[in-house]
Amino acid sequence: MQHIAESTGGRFLSHGPIVEIDHISIDSRVNEYGAYDLFIAFRGQNHNGHDFIPELIKKGVKNFIVEEDVEAVENINIIKVTTSVKALQTLATVKRKRFISPVIGITGSNGKTIIKEWLYDILSTRFSVLKSPKSYNSQIGVPLSVWPIGPEFNMGIFEAGISQPGEMEKLASIISPTIGIFTNIGTAHEEFFDSQNQKVSEKLKLFKDSEALVFCMDHELIARQINESFIGEKIGWSFNGKGVYNVELKEGHHLAIRKGTEQYTFSVNLKDKASLENIVHCIITSLVLGVKTQDIQEGIDRIQPIKMRLELKKGINRSYLIDDTYNNDVAGLHKALDFMDQQKHVSNKTIILSDFIQNKHSKTFYTELNQLLLQKNVNRLIGIGPQLSQHKQVFDLPATFYTNTESFLQSDEIHQFQNELVLIKGARQFALEKVSKLLAEKGHKTVLEVNLDAITHNLNFYRSLLKPDTKIMVVVKALAYGSGSEEVSKMLEFHKVDYLAVAYADEGVALRKNGVTLPIMVMNASDDDPFNLMRFNLEPEIFSLEQLKSFTEAYALADRELQAHLILNTGMNRLGFNPEDLDQLIDYITSNKSIKVKSVFTHLAASEELEHSDFTKDQVDKFRSGAQKIEDALAYKPIRHILNSGGIVRHNSFQEDMVRLGIGLHGIEVSHLKDGDLQNTAYLKTVISQIRYVKSGETIGYGRSGVAKKDMKIATIAIGYADGYLRVFGNGNAFVVIQGQKAKTVGNICMDMSMVDVTGLNANVGDEVVVFGENPSVSQLADWAGTIPYEILTNVSNRVKRVFYTE
Ligand SMILES: *Cc1c(COP(=O)(O)O)cnc(C)c1O
Repeated sequence: MQHIAESTGGRFLSHGPIVEIDHISIDSRVNEYGAYDLFIAFRGQNHNGHDFIPELIKKGVKNFIVEEDVEAVENINIIKVTTSVKALQTLATVKRKRFISPVIGITGSNGKTIIKEWLYDILSTRFSVLKSPKSYNSQIGVPLSVWPIGPEFNMGIFEAGISQPGEMEKLASIISPTIGIFTNIGTAHEEFFDSQNQKVSEKLKLFKDSEALVFCMDHELIARQINESFIGEKIGWSFNGKGVYNVELKEGHHLAIRKGTEQYTFSVNLKDKASLENIVHCIITSLVLGVKTQDIQEGIDRIQPIKMRLELKKGINRSYLIDDTYNNDVAGLHKALDFMDQQKHVSNKTIILSDFIQNKHSKTFYTELNQLLLQKNVNRLIGIGPQLSQHKQVFDLPATFYTNTESFLQSDEIHQFQNELVLIKGARQFALEKVSKLLAEKGHKTVLEVNLDAITHNLNFYRSLLKPDTKIMVVVKALAYGSGSEEVSKMLEFHKVDYLAVAYADEGVALRKNGVTLPIMVMNASDDDPFNLMRFNLEPEIFSLEQLKSFTEAYALADRELQAHLILNTGMNRLGFNPEDLDQLIDYITSNKSIKVKSVFTHLAASEELEHSDFTKDQVDKFRSGAQKIEDALAYKPIRHILNSGGIVRHNSFQEDMVRLGIGLHGIEVSHLKDGDLQNTAYLKTVISQIRYVKSGETIGYGRSGVAKKDMKIATIAIGYADGYLRVFGNGNAFVVIQGQKAKTVGNICMDMSMVDVTGLNANVGDEVVVFGENPSVSQLADWAGTIPYEILTNVSNRVKRVFYTE
């Protein structure tokens, strides 16, 4: 403590034990204090740190720096200084001076914190790095960040931010960077600076003693001042060929960086300009520090865990495709193979794989690759590229090899795909999209994209509302609310839901034909269906005595047990047994041993609506007494269930043994109590077929109802009422989104096409058009049409191709 008093020019108000200080704190709320901590008290605007001293002493703090007169305390070190901030800064500066390893200082208007975090991710495998926590870059944040520096570190990364002239000198002496990064200059904090120039020159003061400075030459103001006044090594880089390092963004997310004759390539998954600029700062600083390109690449991969979109779509000859023709890295391959392995409904699996271009691999690599493919149940490999071809001997599965994509496209093998799942995974250079185009089912460009991750999220959300042993039946009627019942059901099976429900027997048959093995309840099975029900192991909902009798007789003929789900009508008045029917029902069941009651349930008429809560409770009471009556007559206990999606949220206490989840899985929270907790799952998208300019006074479409009141730019889009885009959406009653911009409909919706107003918008032939998704949402469309989201979803016609993806 003695040297602390000396270096800060303070004087002891009272003395305590002699200790080395470990930790400095300024926040009295953090209570991890000990005898080796130093608390620095500030006089703040709303808060005075000095008031907390007695409390902190009780917690065990023995060392204080204060700027106000406080009472001396026996056995406690209290040093009084003129200003606490200055004392803190001085202490950090002293610590920094003893540190000899490289220190990186970062300033500029934007990107400081991101660059610091990314650099940390890249450098921390090679160096033991101390970095500023969060965005600690102020007059107090900086010294607190620097203070812990010591021999256990061999690199420091700190950011500095200023809001007015005069502040940077202090931060410069605390951080004293050996290498600097000047990110860019923006317009924030304008009021305290006379000009942009002054702002740059103030910020540059951070680097007055630095050996090297990394900056982007394309920011002219920064480049000019650095050239004029910075004396160390100027490491300017540029996207325009002007720098010491010149950077080019190549196709397929590759950055080519050139310095004289040296050339480096990195694969980055960033698109926006600001992120690219930030990552280049990190890469060049790492190169300057002598980090190997491979280590830098690994660091970059850690920064942005590959967000890879995997799509499952229908291919030619009853095949399926999963297609990722943009990049090929090992982590991505693992993910794609897992996704392929999950698709249990197709037993034959082929992978079309290109060479990995990032680095050359040894034989061991290919041996491991062979193992991986076998382990993930791949049946056939088509390898494309010289490196895979060269290692063909290591592969144990049926495999063919081509040195390039063209020779594969010209081979006979390309015409031989059928009844299989084909994973296409290749680096951009190999242009495997040519292969996927050939193998994809041709069709109309309007697609319903279904986000399987969002469905999983929503399922987990509803699960989180249930007691651990409440079962889930997922209702996948009407193509799983339009999304695609087979694929969604396969996924639900993977996520281990307990039951599925469909409306009609054919829907259940289709699921069984696709290999779904979960128990399936059929809600509206008729007298014609027993044969199909038995053959495909489907379980009927039973709603009347006549129906039960006819089923029982059919099942008896086949000597089969009837697995029945009894529905009680408690107020919905759709299907089901009324309370007065129960005695007869029970008599019949107890005298027919071939009937097994799997479940007893009811359906709520208005579960999502608060105003009908009393009615709902009445339904529940009626159900419970009916169910009890049935159970009392049976020697076993059937599953009880009541709640649909709205009910799970609004009437959570009526979970019984199972719930029936429907629309909620698709991101629509009908009770509106938990709107923000679900994710959107379905995106209806189409394309612009043609753009035309119409003159004021012309009309657009059938019936001439769309009238151009001014000169207009009109886009014709490839969706109409036959696809499920309702006619009421015409004449400006709805908008679509093109490149993030809203475009209202004009004129009547046609059967297969619609016209939208793109006057003044950037919209071109072939552009993607979002019909629904996040914006506008299905609920929004339902509002426009005066209907409910269920109808919008289930209206998307069969002609619209479903594409399933996971990220
Ligand atoms: C459709 C249906 C459900 C699912 O309802 P959601 O409101 O979509 O959750 C549940 N039970 C029965 C009987 C149904 O017909």
